[in-house]
Amino acid sequence: MRVDIVTIFPQMLAGFFDVGVIGAARQAGLVQIHLHDLRDFTTDKHKQVDDRPYGGGPGMVLKPEPFFRAVEFIKSQINVEPRVILLSAQGKLFTQQIAKELAKEHAIILLCGRYEGVDERVLHICTDELSIGDYVLSGGEAAAAVVTECVARLVPGVIGKQESVEHDSFYTEKLLGPPQYTRPPEFRGLRVPEVLLTGDHKKVEEFRRRAALEKTLKNRPDLLPHPSPLRKRRGKG
Ligand code: SAM
Repeated sequence: MRVDIVTIFPQMLAGFFDVGVIGAARQAGLVQIHLHDLRDFTTDKHKQVDDRPYGGGPGMVLKPEPFFRAVEFIKSQINVEPRVILLSAQGKLFTQQIAKELAKEHAIILLCGRYEGVDERVLHICTDELSIGDYVLSGGEAAAAVVTECVARLVPGVIGKQESVEHDSFYTEKLLGPPQYTRPPEFRGLRVPEVLLTGDHKKVEEFRRRAALEKTLKNRPDLLPHPSPLRKRRGKG
């Protein structure tokens, strides 16, 4: 998979993609990441990427022309039709389901806004407008890092064991993952649940399923159907 990110601050992202799972995936040639400075796609001597908003108001808006040129340049480098995504607080909410869909693509272009945002006409060259949550960041770079990391780890081969990915929260259903424990079995009086030490795979699976439901009920009850499977089971005693 190839990911191209267009930003006025490519240096913010460079180190992030050099290490960890993504760093290893890049070294193995499974994921290619290209960072582009939006200013390189300006044509004036001041490399101006922003201007005042029409209709007045505070702050500056990123101009459309450099984004159009950047996307045209990137498209000329690749021979597949990429998904072109504007990171925006006004976008559709990015979820694990969308990440799974994007992981099947050969190429993704991520466009990062700044200041008051991006000229709305940029959406004409985009296939998607995505938000990473109902809050406002100062720029799209952190959102681009979130989307890239989340999608890249779903590309086959990036995480050694596919099973790890499939056991993550949200992978197959809208459910948080179960709690995890490792050695030692007891630490400062805090014991690992006994069932996990038994080696009984059926019981371990049952424990994990129930613990995942309990955690979801506690932290994200909005994810559960109503009435939730846990409430139903509890009701049955
Ligand atoms: N005025 C904009 C609004 O009301 O939606 C906010 C602009 S924000 C300060 C600057 C840039 O940060 C946006 O253009 C976008 O690229 C990025 N951004 C902010 N919040 C985001 C979010 N929740 N998800 C994705 N990108 C976000």
